[in-house]
Amino acid sequence: MTASYDAGFDIGGTRIKYGLVDREGRLVWKGKVRSPGTMDGFLAAVAEAWAGLKRRAPGPVRSCGFGIAGFYSTGERRVLQSPNYPGLDGYPILPALREIVGVPVRVGNDANMAAYGEFRHGAGRGVRSLVLFTVGTGIGGGLILDGRLWEGEGGFAGELGHITVNPEGETCGCGRRGCLESEAAAPRLVRRFQELSGRTDVTDSREVYLLARAGDPAALESFRRTARWLGIGIGTVITALNPAKVLIGGGVVSAGKLFLGPVIEAARRSSHPIPLAGCRVERAALGNDAGLVGAAAWARLRAGTERSGRPGR
Ligand SMILES: [Zn+2]
Repeated sequence: MTASYDAGFDIGGTRIKYGLVDREGRLVWKGKVRSPGTMDGFLAAVAEAWAGLKRRAPGPVRSCGFGIAGFYSTGERRVLQSPNYPGLDGYPILPALREIVGVPVRVGNDANMAAYGEFRHGAGRGVRSLVLFTVGTGIGGGLILDGRLWEGEGGFAGELGHITVNPEGETCGCGRRGCLESEAAAPRLVRRFQELSGRTDVTDSREVYLLARAGDPAALESFRRTARWLGIGIGTVITALNPAKVLIGGGVVSAGKLFLGPVIEAARRSSHPIPLAGCRVERAALGNDAGLVGAAAWARLRAGTERSGRPGR
């Protein structure tokens, strides 16, 4: 039998990443393109990427999954609110994508797709429950409960970046105050460093990381304070859900132990010791590929469900 493949797209604010995934979750080919500013441009970019994927596929491409940043309603099958593409808001994206690819299509939230990718093919293999936190410019999250991706009643579960951790904190992009994202994402780490050191020439979290590694006290303190807030968010989720694993992904994990050490310490202090005792907090494994690997695996699952005659979504 010829090996078949599934395609995954990760639709981000600056890049559209896409790839071909085999049945074992191996990414056999991947590409990326800069995100166009308009809906027409977006659909044209997807069509071109899809044509390229099909050309390179060593066998048939069975299904195609899309992870999109924003609130994707599984009931209405449209994005209610996208931080990156205002044109997507309310747009009937599913039929448009179906028309382009001509194979079964599945759409989900990008961080949910990343959680599913880690669950099936990454650091979450072998467990039945996990929570993924992706920490970068923003904070996303995804939940796997009892061996299934939990999208919530409407598709909006796992918005862990918008858990309120500090009612007196700064205003978040969502308009509320003191969200985990406004306290613990990379831009806040950088601002903390600027406030502590008085250095406004440092504008990137990687620079703060390099300074921290060199022993700069303000940089180290910025990491400690940022880690404390993330730990509070993680501890809360451990107490609420009793997961087997909490995985931390996203750009900020490249800081390694310097960040993860204090995060785990703060998570310990912020969760009940009994669910904590059965939970491992560790780095996610798939890096930037988690979203597209997960979207492909998610689409494959749906295509399989359809063939078995059970109702899909
Ligand atoms: Zn928020």
